[in-house]
Amino acid sequence: MGYYEFKIKISDESKDALIQMMSQAGCLGVIENGNTITAYFPDFLGINKITDALSSSKKTLKDSGLDDKMSFEYVFIGERDWNESWKKKFKPIDVGENLTILPPWEENSNGRISLIIDPGMAFGTGHHETTKTCLTLIERFSKDLIPPLVNSFLDFGTGTGILAIAALKLGFKHAVCVDIDPLAIDAAQRNAELNTLENIEIKEGSISLVDGKFDFIAANLMSEILIQNAHKMASSLNKPGIALLSGMIVGQEDDVITAMEKEGLHVLEKFYDGRWVSVLLTH
Ligand code: SAM
Repeated sequence: MGYYEFKIKISDESKDALIQMMSQAGCLGVIENGNTITAYFPDFLGINKITDALSSSKKTLKDSGLDDKMSFEYVFIGERDWNESWKKKFKPIDVGENLTILPPWEENSNGRISLIIDPGMAFGTGHHETTKTCLTLIERFSKDLIPPLVNSFLDFGTGTGILAIAALKLGFKHAVCVDIDPLAIDAAQRNAELNTLENIEIKEGSISLVDGKFDFIAANLMSEILIQNAHKMASSLNKPGIALLSGMIVGQEDDVITAMEKEGLHVLEKFYDGRWVSVLLTH
């Protein structure tokens, strides 16, 4: 498979809305740098469909009263070149007190817990603020909680599987991962193998597939999806248990919290990192 790399110039006020619309149109990942967004789309979508989606996003920005000035250019990247360009971008990074995320072609010699992640085309390289916040909080909880509370972990929207992999390496006994994207499922399975983990179940689909209850639920997802699935998340959480919701843009957190409160959960802590919010809740 090849990819189209788009470089899009857009104003600050319209960036988040555009990224959300592109993600709905099949965009697999973005890198933000000032007012330029680099966005990747798989070639099977077809270039006309992608450019049409950008044109209709421009119209939606205008209709919403946002700045719709936007320019873009794109190049096609074949699969081999894609892998090479990824390799150059993806370097080891330390997260939290004792975690290091590293790609399979690098060696960890610093004695920290390594999370070996081959990103493939899935979200979750650990370079995104929300993934880093989730990892830091999972690490904190796995240390603070007494062992019976770190048995089961649900990773809702697993991407590369990075959060479940961290949870298992930090002492959780069992993890279930779900994602609607088949590319994410492939990446998560490969990463579970790279980290020689067996006590991990990876399923293609949404949280409705999941049975049973969990001590910890991590959901790094868009706020609309968190709201839609508030009931299922609450009913899948053990008492006591912790739900970590991330992926909300500042300003969206109140609606997500209200939806969770209706299901009987309350907020323990909120964390702000730039424009992103993460929230810890319990029953
Ligand atoms: N958990 C990883 C992390 O923290 O880096 C990846 C998070 S990424 C922002 C969100 C993931 O959720 C994507 O892989 C996407 O395919 C998946 N996703 C989106 N909607 C979903 C749904 N309704 N059910 C399950 N997965 C979903």
